[in-house]
Amino acid sequence: MKRRDLLLSSAALALACARKSSTTSTRAVSLVVPAQPTKDGAGVSLHRALGQRALAMLDPFLMLDEFQTENPDDYIAGFPDHPHRGFETVTYMIDGAMEHRDSVGNHGRLGPGAAQWMTAGRGIVHSEMPKQERGLMWGFQLWVNLPARRKLIPPRYQDIAPTLIPEVALEKGRLRVIAGTAEGQIGPVSGIDVEPLFVDVTLEPGGAFTLPTSPQHTSFVFVTDGAMRVGATRQEVPKGHLAVLTPGQVLQLEGSHGRALVLAGRPLGEPVARWGPFVMNTDAEIQQAIADYRSGRLVRGS
Ligand code: MN
Repeated sequence: MKRRDLLLSSAALALACARKSSTTSTRAVSLVVPAQPTKDGAGVSLHRALGQRALAMLDPFLMLDEFQTENPDDYIAGFPDHPHRGFETVTYMIDGAMEHRDSVGNHGRLGPGAAQWMTAGRGIVHSEMPKQERGLMWGFQLWVNLPARRKLIPPRYQDIAPTLIPEVALEKGRLRVIAGTAEGQIGPVSGIDVEPLFVDVTLEPGGAFTLPTSPQHTSFVFVTDGAMRVGATRQEVPKGHLAVLTPGQVLQLEGSHGRALVLAGRPLGEPVARWGPFVMNTDAEIQQAIADYRSGRLVRGS
């Protein structure tokens, strides 16, 4: 090939790449952080992927914890009665169970494969107690922010039985759609302000998964088993690591015996004032939440 032809062909290639990225921009990995071991509740050992020193939040997502252990001493004390105000807690169990009971009179047990999307709104007090099933306990809790104008709405529960979560077989893998749309399946979680996407995807070696996303929505991938090649550059992300993605129209995963939670949501772009189980917009609102909790108004609402 002559030099001129080579220049022409590389120019054509560059143009083709530019065209491709302008029509279908694939999200890339901008940051990878390892989940950090920590304790919360009454001494539950867990790994915190989001809401830690290296990654305080990813608007609108505030926290992501993973509980995975075969040793009951790691979690038996659980999360006794504690309040929440101003955001949503999402519990997702792969193995084992989470028993919950709250100040509004709800109680139940999330078994393997179940999810709960709990909108705390103006306030609830609840307990969450992890339990083993068949010697296993593996679950997650995600915190999702509420917009300022909706922080004090009445609490709302969406308890989702495993059978209500669509499961899709891929050529070399499978996925479960908890919220949002993937592979033509609509997840059962509805009416959430940040229009969340929440998918649990398993890929065998050679398996791939491509998902259209709202380009400006915040998105991340938390690898829960094995490893995944993530994003435009197919960066390998191992188990226990969270990969933050750049904006883009398409989210791309390739497997090498991997499983991951894929999240996306509309950023709120509002100030965040955060103290323990309360997430508001200002320090004054945090002080009010603490005062309301102490006086019992958090759950009575007046
Ligand atoms: Mn809680």
